[in-house]
Amino acid sequence: MKPTSKYETIQQLLLDMKEPAYRFSQIMDAIFKQRIGEYEQMTLLPLRLRNELINKLGGRVLTLTPSLEQTSKQVNKVLFAAAKGDRIEAVQLRYERGWNSYCISSQCGCGYGCSFCATGTIGLKRNLTVDEITDQLLYFHFHGQSLDSVSFMGMGEALANPHLFDALSTLTDPAIFGLGQRRITVSTIGIVPGIERVTREFPQVNLTFSLHSPFDEQRSELMPINKRFPLADVLATLDRHIRATGRKVYIAYILLRDVNDSNEHAEAVSALLNGRGSWNHLYHVNLIPYNSTEVTPQTYKQSDKDRINQFVHILKARGVNVTVRTQFGSDIDAACGQLYGKSEGLFLEN
Ligand code: SF4
Repeated sequence: MKPTSKYETIQQLLLDMKEPAYRFSQIMDAIFKQRIGEYEQMTLLPLRLRNELINKLGGRVLTLTPSLEQTSKQVNKVLFAAAKGDRIEAVQLRYERGWNSYCISSQCGCGYGCSFCATGTIGLKRNLTVDEITDQLLYFHFHGQSLDSVSFMGMGEALANPHLFDALSTLTDPAIFGLGQRRITVSTIGIVPGIERVTREFPQVNLTFSLHSPFDEQRSELMPINKRFPLADVLATLDRHIRATGRKVYIAYILLRDVNDSNEHAEAVSALLNGRGSWNHLYHVNLIPYNSTEVTPQTYKQSDKDRINQFVHILKARGVNVTVRTQFGSDIDAACGQLYGKSEGLFLEN
């Protein structure tokens, strides 16, 4: 079988060269413990092997090149140049307790066309490869940052990219990145077969489902995927996931002023999540105040503080677990797909 990642290519190369198995650990130690970013500098390895690695994979371990970086106190956002001139974005969020969380991309652009989303305006260019997904994290690792948790909430719908599952294998492999499944969150607009595969293959990975409206008709307008995988089917799949794994499922809800932030919406969200079964309490709603950008439709605005408070109040009164997520980095366009939009603008101006 053709290797899907550079790590598999290295394993294959070691087999072909009849190198002892411990060589793989040596190379992984060089990358993940000593943070050595060039095969040439892995001097513990025989010269012949180093040369073969360079022949097969190029001199640098990291294949993405950073092309634009924006940093504020808590947020570091990087736009990478990938093959064929495509660009990929990743965000590092630094919490005060010293915890580093990353928001990475799974596709270049996205074809699902959610009406409020900056990435949706680009259209799908392509699925990212396993290396392009995992290199977003490797970049921060090589810059001395700890990899504490990661969410697939950057550009693209993670469960629409079949390489996601190989990327999850690479990230959770104790011999490679060694991230625990519970430190990874996959965000989805509700791709039912993908959710089922997560349940089967990565049951401890956290799932976030983007709801954004409790009403099928409105949800189909905001998120066309709802016509293919209607709300009831997605929630039934999530119920099965919770029952099989005992894990919490997060419900993301972007509050759009006068669109989906009414009392009626709050009541309907509560009704959807209540009465599902003894696992009701394992649903947790994350309310996200909308972050408008130059490339998202002007029709959408952020909800007033009072409205947000009222929405929270109704959910809490109905016994639904809810948190309002702080808008990290709104000063540097940290919402998904937004740095990309900016760079396209810069690119056009140049
Ligand atoms: S919200 Fe997600 S699925 Fe929808 S268009 Fe944006 S990136 Fe794609």
